[in-house]
Amino acid sequence: MVTHVRTFGLSGITGFSVDAEINIAKGLPDFDIIGMGNMAVREAAGRIRAALENSGYPFPLGRVTVNLAPAGIRKEGACYDLAIAVGILLCGSCAGVRTDAFAFVGELSLDGFLRPVRGVLPMMQEAARRGIANCIVPLENADEAALTDACRIYPAASLPEVLQILTSKRTAWPIPEEPAPSRSGCGDYREVKGQAHAVRAAEIAAAGGHNVLFIGAPGCGKSMIAGRLPGILPNLTREEALETAPVYSALGMLRKESLLPNEVPFRTAYPDITKSGLIGGGSRPVPGEISLAHKGVLFLDELAEFDRNVIQSLRQPLETGKISISRCGEFVEFPADFLLVAATNPCGCGKLLEAEGKCSCTPFRARQYLSRISRPILDRIDLHVPLRRIPFQNGGFTANESSQAIRERVIAARALQKNRYRNENVFVNGKLNASMIRRYCNPGRACEALLRRASDAACISMRGYEKILKVARTIADLALHERIAEEDIAEALQYRFLDSFFSEAA
Ligand SMILES: [Zn+2]
Repeated sequence: MVTHVRTFGLSGITGFSVDAEINIAKGLPDFDIIGMGNMAVREAAGRIRAALENSGYPFPLGRVTVNLAPAGIRKEGACYDLAIAVGILLCGSCAGVRTDAFAFVGELSLDGFLRPVRGVLPMMQEAARRGIANCIVPLENADEAALTDACRIYPAASLPEVLQILTSKRTAWPIPEEPAPSRSGCGDYREVKGQAHAVRAAEIAAAGGHNVLFIGAPGCGKSMIAGRLPGILPNLTREEALETAPVYSALGMLRKESLLPNEVPFRTAYPDITKSGLIGGGSRPVPGEISLAHKGVLFLDELAEFDRNVIQSLRQPLETGKISISRCGEFVEFPADFLLVAATNPCGCGKLLEAEGKCSCTPFRARQYLSRISRPILDRIDLHVPLRRIPFQNGGFTANESSQAIRERVIAARALQKNRYRNENVFVNGKLNASMIRRYCNPGRACEALLRRASDAACISMRGYEKILKVARTIADLALHERIAEEDIAEALQYRFLDSFFSEAA
């Protein structure tokens, strides 16, 4: 007799349905698991036999064969343990227990307790898509699983508890409450001393979804300003949070206190990161930092020091908002729609923008430093912002506005953009393509003249010209100007530091 039990596996950050088929035949005792499982799956036999016996259920005599179907998909991990154990019980001591309305996910310990597994959220999302009414999961995964409100979640701590759920009516786990929005984590722009123009650039970046590069000496406040960006971005909507949460679930990073966070993700990468650490990868591909930053901010510190290959791999995600990885004939796609924020020293010693004579690099070496940044990536950065260190004794800073005040303008500007682009597939000025820029960022005659003069003086390329228009559109939106005004263009021109830097170098 063949028993079927429904379970789920994880491929990338997507759940897939697995049918565990269990057959017990007469013959010498044997326990075989087939169906493209990795080592952890094949070792399930030992765990399941011990778990059953230690929970007081006799292990059946004869040849036990388990097939994890479909056999064409590679399976890994211990998440199939519970389904296989339940299937074996149904063939023997628990024959007659009905499981057709249930799916099972969980790893077993040798004494029959359930251990949490990675990726429960995407597995349950797949269960919901397939209309499965009830799922039994390890107790520690219950809150995460219950985020999918389409199926009832029954948590269990041990194998005997699983049978109690199947034979009596237990109440399902409640759907976790929405966490209260919190903005405490990242600090406030009020705490930043001076650097008002860089804080303003952060506001423009947040409002229009413009990638931004801060250039300045160590200690001038680049990281401090970048790190406070989540505090001026709108919270994630529930839909956005449910796109981001599976990435964290697949990596086992969804903890109870950070369940379905509506806070904007902020991830930092340093030059020693590997390509797979940044964009995802591995023998079974797992998401990288760009996907952990989905719907949030990715901060690249010391951009000029990154390996060129690693940085080039950001081209696809910056263009499409996702990354496709294929490995050993398997193809996975991870979401990666993030705001890129980068920081760099202006030269090897870091002091090129400080007072005259402080930089110890030769003029040639100093120029070379920023040229290391990959051009295709630089092309996707709208704002270049130079910063100077503020001398310690210089006390009279103008105080920066609070993040809350900035955030209100950002939200208003985003609402304007969402309405303006309701018939396009973009939401922010930063994502406009060339034809949209012509349609929506018309500068008018006076502005055009100003732009021409400025671009001739600073050798701004066509691409740079388009970026200035996009940024000016965002500045106008922040000021609630319906048309781009001259002052908007004049401000936008200040954020193209590298155009003039490289043209002087040429
Ligand atoms: Zn220098």
